Amino acid sequence: MSKAKFDTVLIANRGEIALRILRACRELDLRTVAVHSEADSSLRHVQLADQALCIGPASAARSYLDQQQLLLAAELTGAGAIHPGYGFLSENAGFAEAVEQSGRVFIGPTAASIRLMGDKVSAKQAMLKAGVPCVPGSPGALSKDRDEVRALAAEVGYPLIVKASGGGGGRGMRIVRQPKELDDAVDMTREEAGRAFGNPEVYIEKFLEHPRHVEIQILADGQGNAVWLGERDCSMQRRHQKVIEESPAPGIDRSAIAEIGERCVEACRLIGYRGAGTFEFLYENGQFYFIEMNTRVQVEHPVTELVTGVDIVREQLLIALGEPLKLTQGDIRIQGHAIECRINAEDPLKFMPTPGRVSQWIAPGGPGIRVETHLYPGYSVPPHYDSLVAKLLAHGSTRAEAISRMRGALSETVLDGISSTIGLHSILMTEPGFVEGGFDIHHLERYLGQVETERKGSSK
Ligand code: ADP
Repeated sequence: MSKAKFDTVLIANRGEIALRILRACRELDLRTVAVHSEADSSLRHVQLADQALCIGPASAARSYLDQQQLLLAAELTGAGAIHPGYGFLSENAGFAEAVEQSGRVFIGPTAASIRLMGDKVSAKQAMLKAGVPCVPGSPGALSKDRDEVRALAAEVGYPLIVKASGGGGGRGMRIVRQPKELDDAVDMTREEAGRAFGNPEVYIEKFLEHPRHVEIQILADGQGNAVWLGERDCSMQRRHQKVIEESPAPGIDRSAIAEIGERCVEACRLIGYRGAGTFEFLYENGQFYFIEMNTRVQVEHPVTELVTGVDIVREQLLIALGEPLKLTQGDIRIQGHAIECRINAEDPLKFMPTPGRVSQWIAPGGPGIRVETHLYPGYSVPPHYDSLVAKLLAHGSTRAEAISRMRGALSETVLDGISSTIGLHSILMTEPGFVEGGFDIHHLERYLGQVETERKGSSK
């Protein structure tokens, strides 16, 4: 047997995903190094890792995003690989390159793949080449010539959406309903994109009025083997951010999904993709339209793990170790239905972050329930990072059973000391639109708007 490529993994992340990565490493007998900011020394994975290192102050820019510090930490601890998790540096091609140049393994795709797919314009162009349908729009980034842009917009048709090539996290998008709004929208998105993403390039797409968000999870080993692991419906969104995810997507023809899945696998082969990844689509009137690819593990990956039985993070590690994918498409069977509720430390109505000390935390349990969290009683949620504190998952043989189990699990969960979105999820699990399934990406905001109107009405 050849010598393993690495035996120690540095986890360049925090919170629930750091813990998730640590557990997968442990199963494969890989040593773990936790790096953390000064605000995060009490995190669960920091206590559990084989070695822990403080790499900087609370500010993410000076800790989790500080490439030099991370590389130095890897050097000091003998870590041969770095797992970036999601967010932070997970889709930073320059970092992937720096890790590889230092002689270590970046647990993810090559820098070239991240660059190609991280830029939404080049990603769309690559997908069109692979025969994956995309939202109609400008063939590339918009030119500075206003007349040209106006003509292109008229061709695409209104309403349209101006999007930043380098955008992410639901930011860098502007809907344009009429031609007179176009110039300003393009200017503002460009300006914002330059500031937020360091790339002022923007493009336009037809704005779909009532799409669903359906995405395909893939795994590829970069050696020619790739599989797709079913789909996830992430249409329950607020401000373009996912709130609830589920698999399978209710009411969509299986053969249509299989066709798209196969195209995604084809695209992976075409670009020589390596690692876990997700192709995101909007689905409207029976058609799929590619919008972007995430070249990393996603928050909602456990939904797929529950219905396929595949451990995605473990597969990421095996691929990084250079092992050929053992799974074939024929091995992938979707069993039952899974739902994930993202529990954020936020005010459930205003969605403002609510950091603070957790006085009580009791996790739910029982058949089909899975909890991914770094919470424990006495833990203080710091104000510096993302507000996701737990993911609650329910798996059942049918969608109705998964919902019923989720309701039970939410009612069992105790999280005191801070506000959270648990109460909102409990309400959504009985909301008729959600229970019926197949709603569009605006459903949640419509529903919240209605609740707000009723609340104001009753307080008059
Ligand atoms: P990000 O990288 O910020 O997540 P995406 O391109 O994935 O951006 O889009 C995020 C969300 O924005 C989608 O899930 C959808 O809700 C909305 N969206 C994006 N493009 C369109 C479009 N062409 N028409 C309608 N909604 C869109």
